[in-house]
Amino acid sequence: MPRIIGRDERVTPRSGAEDIVAAIAESTRASLAAVNASLGEIAAVACSAPGPLDHRGGIVHEAPNVVGFIDYPLGPRLAEELGVAAIYLDRDTIMAAVGEAVAGAARGARNFIYVTISTGIGGAIVIDGRLLRGAANTAGEIGHFPVALEGPRCGCGSYGCVESLAAGRFVAEAYGVDDAARVYAAAAAGDEAAERIVTRAEKALGNLAVGLANALSPALIVIGGSVAEHEPSHTLEPMRRAIADRAFKVAAAAVKIVPAALGRDVGMLGAVIYGRERVAGRDEWFR
Ligand SMILES: [Zn+2]
Repeated sequence: MPRIIGRDERVTPRSGAEDIVAAIAESTRASLAAVNASLGEIAAVACSAPGPLDHRGGIVHEAPNVVGFIDYPLGPRLAEELGVAAIYLDRDTIMAAVGEAVAGAARGARNFIYVTISTGIGGAIVIDGRLLRGAANTAGEIGHFPVALEGPRCGCGSYGCVESLAAGRFVAEAYGVDDAARVYAAAAAGDEAAERIVTRAEKALGNLAVGLANALSPALIVIGGSVAEHEPSHTLEPMRRAIADRAFKVAAAAVKIVPAALGRDVGMLGAVIYGRERVAGRDEWFR
């Protein structure tokens, strides 16, 4: 497990892509300065970004929650700003999956799906030891897997996506608050409106789990993200129950749902591990 020796965190600017690049570059320099290191001593720079994106060209296609990232060459611009030859850029959930595979809960697994249930829902799929990319590199964007026949509308333009029913931001919005933790607390206290929203989120996650188990037959589904971490009885448990009740018996017998091991630093640790793997030429995850 890599050890984080320098760290710097900043709020993402809302004033456009160039300001975000400048902030990332400043943050990189500050974390290096904290341990008296320079960029010349760094073996690799990796950047975990929201998707969909083109990991080869370092281009972020769209990121609904980040201002200005529309077909934006984040990798090349950041490399230029830092004065390094190359940046390894990939989707945050792919970084997390590689991190979990090398140093976390998915060690040794050849068939696993990483799912994050946080502000949004996302994931990455590894089947037969290969990271699924698909024709347009959106494979693994399971937050936008439709699990309901009708609404609600999702930020991606579709409707009935598991994200729009079970992600923290949407659970909070449905109850009219800004933090999903308050909805789960209200449901626990017996508030009926909160209970309805939580039950709906659980059913959406159950549908996703059955679909993943039947269609992809993973040996492991590794669940990370802040909502999953704080509310396993409303996330991991309903997913386990749905698979046991409704998936193909052989697929259900073959799969375990486990919590992620790398915790809240998974994006950063995943990027470090990903960069190290790429430098070492172990690129079988990334084709
Ligand atoms: Zn969607």
